[in-house]
Amino acid sequence: MSSIDGLPPLREVIETHSLVAKKSLGQNFLLDLNLTSKIARQAGNLKACDVLEVGPGPGGLTRGLLAEGARKVLAIEKDTRALGPLSEISEHYPNRLEVINADALEINPLEKLTPPVRIVANLPYNVGTELLVRWLTPASWPPYWSSLTLMFQKEVAERIVAQPGSKKYGRLAILSQWRSTPRIVMELPPEAFSPPPKIHSAVVHFEALSEPRFPADVSALESVVAKAFNQRRKMLRSSLKGLCTDLEDRLCEAGIKPTDRAEQIPLEGWCALARVIKQK
Ligand code: SAM
Repeated sequence: MSSIDGLPPLREVIETHSLVAKKSLGQNFLLDLNLTSKIARQAGNLKACDVLEVGPGPGGLTRGLLAEGARKVLAIEKDTRALGPLSEISEHYPNRLEVINADALEINPLEKLTPPVRIVANLPYNVGTELLVRWLTPASWPPYWSSLTLMFQKEVAERIVAQPGSKKYGRLAILSQWRSTPRIVMELPPEAFSPPPKIHSAVVHFEALSEPRFPADVSALESVVAKAFNQRRKMLRSSLKGLCTDLEDRLCEAGIKPTDRAEQIPLEGWCALARVIKQK
């Protein structure tokens, strides 16, 4: 029995349910419940919160979240093989775990959640980045969630917290830092997972700001940043060519030199440029 909840150890659960990790679903499981409880604690006080967990798998992180006192966990899992282990957790914590068998990219779980909501996940990295961008770019702000605590490939985590002037600075840094305060709160070596992935991982915690740091229209900001960083080594007067007819005037109006490169422009400059472009 495990020390955090008296349920069987995860290795045994995986064996009993023949939950062999599938590469196609990005399955690298966390088996150490002390570690999953530590990740759950990085999300802050869970006692008065609903937690949305994406990709619970055999339930290591789910058990950490419940043992740390989450009011309710709503877990979305694509793999039907994980439903057996998850229902055992659900029985152990009556009325506190609800599981939806679905692709997280295709459903909106909002109506099943009561605020405040914290989102916590150890997801396959491609799905994680896509969901992160969706969570950061709703048309209106603040969003339904108050924090995100997410596992990423370490290199992606470094891109999220990167500052201007760094090679890692780009779209993820700008979208994340515009509306939240991302911090790397833990780093994990490959051996923390079963099977071990080839890369190192890191947990990033984002607290949603009550309003974005600088005003800007979200789609204008997304498109200008995507275009500029698509050719990050070029001067903005080249990389943003075609954005509008009087590009150089617009850049100057936003306080940006047309000869600057995307990497040099701070968040405030991108928001100013998005406003100027949107006004047109
Ligand atoms: N949370 C577990 C842990 O920490 O051990 C499992 C993590 S494993 C990296 C990723 C999990 O996400 C797997 O259980 C996988 O089946 C699930 N998954 C993959 N793609 C998904 C999707 N699009 N929607 C929901 N779950 C998904």
